[in-house]
Amino acid sequence: MKFPLAPNATIGILGGGQLGRMLALAAARLGLKTRIYAPEPDSPAFDVSSGHRIGAYEDEGELALFAAEVDVVTYEFENVPARTVSVLEESVKVFPGAAALTVSQDRLAEKEFMSSLGIATAAYLAVDDAGALARAVAQLGRPSILKTRRFGYDGKGQILIREGADLAACFRSLGDSPGNHSAILEGFVPFLKEVSVVAARDMHGGFAAFDVCENQHEHHILHLTHAPAEIDPATAELAVDMTKTIAEALDYVGVLAVELFVVEEHGGKTALLVNEMAPRVHNSGHWTEGGAVTSQFEQHIRAIAGWSLGSPQRHGRAVEMRNLIGDEADAYLQILSEPGARLTLYGKREARSGRKMGHVTRILE
Ligand code: AMP
Repeated sequence: MKFPLAPNATIGILGGGQLGRMLALAAARLGLKTRIYAPEPDSPAFDVSSGHRIGAYEDEGELALFAAEVDVVTYEFENVPARTVSVLEESVKVFPGAAALTVSQDRLAEKEFMSSLGIATAAYLAVDDAGALARAVAQLGRPSILKTRRFGYDGKGQILIREGADLAACFRSLGDSPGNHSAILEGFVPFLKEVSVVAARDMHGGFAAFDVCENQHEHHILHLTHAPAEIDPATAELAVDMTKTIAEALDYVGVLAVELFVVEEHGGKTALLVNEMAPRVHNSGHWTEGGAVTSQFEQHIRAIAGWSLGSPQRHGRAVEMRNLIGDEADAYLQILSEPGARLTLYGKREARSGRKMGHVTRILE
């Protein structure tokens, strides 16, 4: 398939959650078809796509059929197995490419990659057994955070190591997490704020960043995003420059998100440490739908279709996005009655606790 894609071309999306759903809606608005590939029969993205295929990410036969049905492939989550991507790449382009996945699937590789670009992160050490953990804690001090290298999200696979904590027990408790065999210890960052940059890079190297936004988490899950972040303009510019450096080093195509800690340096100045990157549209970019000229979902579709990027310009003085977690989404009638509130529901049947059910965006004039 030649890029730029023509309208009616089909975008393949690995993953059928809310991100896939919002990508499919954005693609449809632009006259593109989508086909979702996911193992779960009740995937929210199926409801709004042109078609879907239910299959395991390891099922090479199903993947080959999927590849033959689509003109380009993207994904809504970073834990796509590397083998899945290489099978697909035999017959179709996958964006963002394998380099971005390799880096973002492994916290150690990610930290080393950032360091190679001269981008600061929390202090870190690789930890493969309880002995290595004791040595790492002696070096980085307490509190520090033990994280599995792979498959961690929303605080899963993470343990805060406090004063007096039993290190052998801490290491063992990673045992329930997938990918537990290798971990990293991170020095605790006493951050002032957590911010993120959601940006896009197109096939010709064009780059556009949305406003740096500020994020608040509750129980390790994103609760509130406020754009723009209340940080000084030089810090915001630096955050965007770091994101551009990362995108260029990966020859990235699509939307990426970089989460950063704002820390205070000596003399009251602020500095930035990268926490992690996500090679996909991101929860902290949901405010762009309705809150910016182009949404992150449209921006991603444009980039992977070989189209030019749209304007990331924000509407209003500021924009706020709140996640609706679990039964918070039950207040939908009340939210609908609020002038100016923009409600999005993901169509998930069951509101389990901690599950992202929707979000509400408000433009602050
Ligand atoms: P992560 O899964 O790495 O995004 O971590 C989830 C959340 O834990 C972050 O958004 C921070 O609030 C907190 N956190 C992670 N790493 C650190 C760190 N090294 N120091 C302080 N807080 C952290």
